[in-house]
Amino acid sequence: MLKVYNSYSKKIEDFIPQRREEVRMYTCGPTVYRKAHIGNLRVYVFSDVVARTLRFFGYRVLNVMNITDIGHLAGDGDEGEDKVELAAKELGKSASELATFYTNHFLESLKELNVTLPYKITKATDYISEQIFLIRVLEDKGYTYKLDDGIYFNVSRFPKYFDYVNKSSNERSRIGENSDKLSPHDFALWKFSKGSRLQEYDSPWGVGFPGWHIECSAMALKELGDTLDIHIGGEDLKMTHHPNEIAQSECVTDQKFVKYWLHAAFLNFNSEKMSKSVGNVVLLEDIVAKGFSPLAVRYYFLNSNYRGSMNFTDEGLEASANSLKRIYDFVSSVKINDKKSFDRTFLEKFAEKLSDDFNTAGALAVFWEALSSNLDDETKLNTLLKMDEVLGLNLVTMVGYEIPKEVEELAKIRWQYKKEGIYDKADYLRREIEKLGFEVLDSKDSYTIKKIFH
Ligand code: AMP
Ligand code: ZN
Repeated sequence: MLKVYNSYSKKIEDFIPQRREEVRMYTCGPTVYRKAHIGNLRVYVFSDVVARTLRFFGYRVLNVMNITDIGHLAGDGDEGEDKVELAAKELGKSASELATFYTNHFLESLKELNVTLPYKITKATDYISEQIFLIRVLEDKGYTYKLDDGIYFNVSRFPKYFDYVNKSSNERSRIGENSDKLSPHDFALWKFSKGSRLQEYDSPWGVGFPGWHIECSAMALKELGDTLDIHIGGEDLKMTHHPNEIAQSECVTDQKFVKYWLHAAFLNFNSEKMSKSVGNVVLLEDIVAKGFSPLAVRYYFLNSNYRGSMNFTDEGLEASANSLKRIYDFVSSVKINDKKSFDRTFLEKFAEKLSDDFNTAGALAVFWEALSSNLDDETKLNTLLKMDEVLGLNLVTMVGYEIPKEVEELAKIRWQYKKEGIYDKADYLRREIEKLGFEVLDSKDSYTIKKIFH
């Protein structure tokens, strides 16, 4: 039985999704006004591990991640400029140009980290009418009030709010000092445009833009229904952004918004939270420029517990890269055919670690145990490949294989046809080769044959 730590109950709980075979999960995505750093990426590798673990346990996973391209203000509260607008104006670009550039950069980083993309990636600006709709419902139900600069959510109308934020904490300075707010915890649902904005929309309350929190409620409710099984984000979202999402969503639907809240802890660098404002940011491309594989970073993350903060060091990265190299050396040294034999005992042990609140470090230890065991090479490799469905170290591309004589013959004839310009016959043979599980890659004056891995 999978057990997960629920951040708000502060307890390890049995994982029981609403539907027997399906898990609905939502991950708060990045704000696309700058390049995502490896601290941000830690959250998304964790989210990927959760989805892969659920699939390993036989669930179908319906996962959504958003892209914040509007409404997230500098300072993370209700004041200051919109981060995307500010960066776009500084660079003389349109907001959508800027957001598209950083979204693509982010998706490229996910690809390099071998993150399986969520079933749906949603952009906040594609859900403006849904956000306006939610605010209207909240207004009709009496949860809002209007100030000079926007429409606010009145947290005193939702007493459960204080189950999620620490009542005694003095968060006032972080939340902002908008003097007219009824409570420092109240937050903007809609802000009015002041001067000219790059992105602004008509609404029943005047031209403006949605607050940062309402976007996640709108996208999650629309794409996944009233109640999500799992909601994921970085630990800094636990105190404000997520309680605000709960307040908005539950006041609209009168249903529980999320069953299990999972928060990934910070990545620190030089013992401080990695962040642009501190100036201690490391990008994935910096690591690649030093000659490391991005997957060494993934390995490094897997080797630490997601709930503990992690200090990023060069030594740690190097150790991870070395471990990964040893794994690849073994995997590429074994040639397998299609016979599938697994070692059940190791796989069960591996699953047991993952069931313990996604204990990836423990799972990796079992992986090494299997790697160092005296299983025959083929069973060993198949077992490791199975484990890699969760770890995502892309072992499958390292596997050694033999090219059958028949495939080599067909490829030789195909190359001849191609050289003579008989393309229909060459294409026919390419398809025949593919049927046998191989593909041909042409270069200018030769070709290579590769096995197709699914
Ligand atoms: P942002 O792009 O600022 O909206 O942040 C995207 C995600 O990264 C959020 O879930 C943050 O909680 C998370 N995050 C930001 N900095 C760090 C860090 N140093 N370590 C781990 N997660 C972080
Ligand atoms: Zn969110």
